[in-house]
Amino acid sequence: MLLIGLPSDEHPLSMRVRIAPSPTGSVHLGLCRTALFNWAHARHAGGTFVLRIEDTDIERNTPESLAAILEGLRWLGLDWDEGPEVGGEHGPYFQTQRLENYSKDVEVLLAAGHLYRDFSTPEQQEVWRAEQEQRKQRVAYRGADRDLSPEASMERVQAGEPFAVRFRIPEGQTRFTDLVRGEVTLPHGEVDDWVLVRRGGGMPTYNFTVVSDDMAMGITCVLRGEEHLVNTPKQLLLYEALGSEPPAFGHLPLLLGKDRRKLSKRTGDTSLGDYRAKGYPRGAILNFLALQGWALDGETEVFSMETFVEHFDPAQVSKGGAIFDPDKFLWLAGEYLRAESPADLAEHCLPFVLSEGLASQDELRGRWDWFVQLIQAVQERLSLYSDAPKWLAPYFVGAQDLVYETKAEKGARKHEGAGDLLMAFAAWLGERPASEDPALTGAAARQWLEDRGAKIGSLFQPLRCALTGQPGGPDLFLIISLLGRQEALLRIERMVGALA
Ligand code: GLU
Repeated sequence: MLLIGLPSDEHPLSMRVRIAPSPTGSVHLGLCRTALFNWAHARHAGGTFVLRIEDTDIERNTPESLAAILEGLRWLGLDWDEGPEVGGEHGPYFQTQRLENYSKDVEVLLAAGHLYRDFSTPEQQEVWRAEQEQRKQRVAYRGADRDLSPEASMERVQAGEPFAVRFRIPEGQTRFTDLVRGEVTLPHGEVDDWVLVRRGGGMPTYNFTVVSDDMAMGITCVLRGEEHLVNTPKQLLLYEALGSEPPAFGHLPLLLGKDRRKLSKRTGDTSLGDYRAKGYPRGAILNFLALQGWALDGETEVFSMETFVEHFDPAQVSKGGAIFDPDKFLWLAGEYLRAESPADLAEHCLPFVLSEGLASQDELRGRWDWFVQLIQAVQERLSLYSDAPKWLAPYFVGAQDLVYETKAEKGARKHEGAGDLLMAFAAWLGERPASEDPALTGAAARQWLEDRGAKIGSLFQPLRCALTGQPGGPDLFLIISLLGRQEALLRIERMVGALA
């Protein structure tokens, strides 16, 4: 029986954690969450965060996926201390560059009797699989060749017979203390003699390379998705066979959709790129991921990464599935976005404004202070950076091209005499000093209305439609100052014509 203590006792000072993504697709939020938790764990303890690329699946690897992982993690601010682009003492950090290490490990383990060659043919494997399906209870695979003598095994190799290399699972059970889930016990009767090297050679398997690399890289703690819990006994037995102290393991709860099934494209977007493209603020993405299986105090939902790093402890990660709530994510995005300085917000909204074709980069840079004021005026109304173009559109068209939204126009038309009132207001406005503070103009306009015995709404609703065509938005006098007096008067004139 294998009994593992908590390596936090064993390695108090030199914590080394890693993530080991495979570059085979888009950057899934599950990977981002795993990266965030490992990064926070390392930063909390002053340890080292390693990035290793598991690129042994040659058929499915793509350079685009690798580039997206590196760029995505950097964008999130999850800087790694060792790995691609930064190097380190334990490289190379790509598994395809570490094949020699694996071959050496196989030799050592074969010689020590921990592995055996399984000469069974694909047809025999198929028969076994079919029998397994018939059985009521699953039986762990034990190859017929597991008790061949080393000499007999060697003879068959020399005769050119193809073989797979399998682990000889001993009797007993594996027990370990998972940092998240506590005591875990798995009887070996449920663990297959698993394959380290497939028949006919090729790339070694995940359970093998992950242990070989984590050992060689001195990894002391592994936080990873719960789907790997079933692999842990296999990996622990391999550490033991290699005579090495295993890292501590902590298995993070799966990210679940609201239907409590594993988060997938079925219920919504799952990749980091999707949320960036939609204009979610970086801080909100990190904060939201931190909440997937962890909580600060059960109450505070908005917290910085400094706070997360300060308080993160894998022992407090929940065992249950983390429910991915898109509404909460959107709410969090709004919280972050509204806390930004208008100058930062303007920078973050810029790409979305450009891609909607509202203006060119040069035009906006040419009147940047104005653009920042514009953003500030609508900031309250934004949840995502991509919300900006909709609110800003009215400021980028001429008076004649402004579109009146139905709701805004209905609101304007319901006031009798609105055209006359607007006309009188335009004359009044024309008399005000152009540089007047919008708040003062607003107060004076209210007084002007009161003096005429007119209701505020009877002017403000038609005026709002005239200026932006939208039923709601920033303060009207702020809008007038952002549009400029001349443009505002043109828009009022057009509305007067429409109401006539
Ligand atoms: N390549 C594996 C994955 O991305 C690594 C798992 C592990 O951390 O051991 O799921």
